[in-house]
Amino acid sequence: MPSIVQELSGHRDLGGLRRVVECPAKATVLREGPAQDSGPGAAWLAYLCPVHAVGLDGWPGAANHPDPGAMPCGTVLDYRSSEQQLQSHADLWLTPLTGVDPAAYGGAWADVLDQADRVLLARVEEAAAAGEDSPLQNMLAVMDVARRAAARGDLGVTAASLGYCETLAQRL
Ligand SMILES: [Zn+2]
Repeated sequence: MPSIVQELSGHRDLGGLRRVVECPAKATVLREGPAQDSGPGAAWLAYLCPVHAVGLDGWPGAANHPDPGAMPCGTVLDYRSSEQQLQSHADLWLTPLTGVDPAAYGGAWADVLDQADRVLLARVEEAAAAGEDSPLQNMLAVMDVARRAAARGDLGVTAASLGYCETLAQRL
């Protein structure tokens, strides 16, 4: 990792790796996210091309730094806790997609993901009944991994699985 990343992240360990937009361009900007709730460093760092540096919703930064590297646009280094990453997934795509709001489940992520899984499964079955293949089909398998990991209390794997679902969600 280049030293600017270590410096901006407050030398924290990486909490998760995400691809928040599928874009073939190389990044020219390293966006520094808002400060962590506790301690030093930014909550996240995002590599963005010139187009997405202007037009990416949901990732408001504290500052942009020129990036001469060749990272793919849309790569996000997330330094937040697993719980905070899960909340970010809910805010950005899971709740808009499924209507399931974690606030209604008091932070019980296993229950949140069980309910989200039921909603997605019902949609896939509806599509199948109409003779169509649902693009949600691929997400179901990964959501199942997330759901099981949450049930055994492994929120790191849960967040990583939702990271993959997040990328799939961009194709819907
Ligand atoms: Zn881009």
